Amino acid sequence: TVFKEGLTKTRTAFVERVEELITRRKKIDEEFYEELEEILIGADVGVSTVMQLIEELRVEVKKRKIEDASDLQPVLSEKLVELLKGDENPGLQMADSGMTVILFVGVNGVGKTTTIGKLAHRFKSEGKSVMLAAGDTFRAGAIEQLEVWGQRVGVEVIKQQAGSDPAAVMYDAVQAAKQRGIDVLLCDTAGRLQNKTNLMEELNKIFRVIKREVPSAPHEVLLVLDATTGQNALSQAKLFGEKSGVTGLVLTKLDGTAKGGIVIAIRNELNLPVKFVGLGEKMGDLQEFDSEQFVHALFA
Ligand code: GDP
Repeated sequence: TVFKEGLTKTRTAFVERVEELITRRKKIDEEFYEELEEILIGADVGVSTVMQLIEELRVEVKKRKIEDASDLQPVLSEKLVELLKGDENPGLQMADSGMTVILFVGVNGVGKTTTIGKLAHRFKSEGKSVMLAAGDTFRAGAIEQLEVWGQRVGVEVIKQQAGSDPAAVMYDAVQAAKQRGIDVLLCDTAGRLQNKTNLMEELNKIFRVIKREVPSAPHEVLLVLDATTGQNALSQAKLFGEKSGVTGLVLTKLDGTAKGGIVIAIRNELNLPVKFVGLGEKMGDLQEFDSEQFVHALFA
């Protein structure tokens, strides 16, 4: 039901249009497939994923001798669940013992800080001690914004001045977290894109510093993506995924977008699990991703 509310816009843009198509055309023919293709592409499912999906639908329709368009919807949701599945969401990788370190990467404005705040809240309500590291020393206001979340959730934020070396902030944070016996350290990083090579070097340096202090860390590198940017989110995932050791994705702002189909494209085109989705601006608006629930929420 959380999914259902969050996916209202996507449902309107996608499922309701499919339903309209089904009642209007009644028969499954070439024109039907063409229109279905357009609807799916419009919902940001992505061209190559749409082609694959339509091909699989054709095969299934033939096999089951389906003629009435009204019988297609269960087949479509079945195929979508299959596409989304691949590997199930393995959940977050946590340290076997001692501190878990999670690094957040992604372009400015995608919802990184908000996601860190939400996850801090989630861990805290599970009874874990949490600390935040203000590793985005580049963007004006990033440190303060993380502090606001720290206060809201009631967790300590380790920071230095704006402009300081993010790797030094991480070093401080890991030391402080070790000293206080913290369970989970959540680390923000800079998200400027105009200087990609530098950003990757900066991330590598952060990696090295963290690893030196906690050899099994980082336990997760979560790439945060803004669902409202549709295909752009997919290209960011490809860009970051290759270089920065990303282990999972968080897709934010699914509530505010009709482009929810991007989840399907991302799952189908990248070998990275979507671990969480953001469904609002509040502390509790973060949901573990579950493909079956997602598709059911779309068609429910
Ligand atoms: P950052 O620059 O990546 O750290 O992005 P922020 O965390 O500052 O988020 C940018 C904006 O997106 C803020 O106004 C957030 O409230 C908003 N935001 C973040 N996640 C979500 C979400 O899941 N849903 C909605 N509707 N807004 C979100």
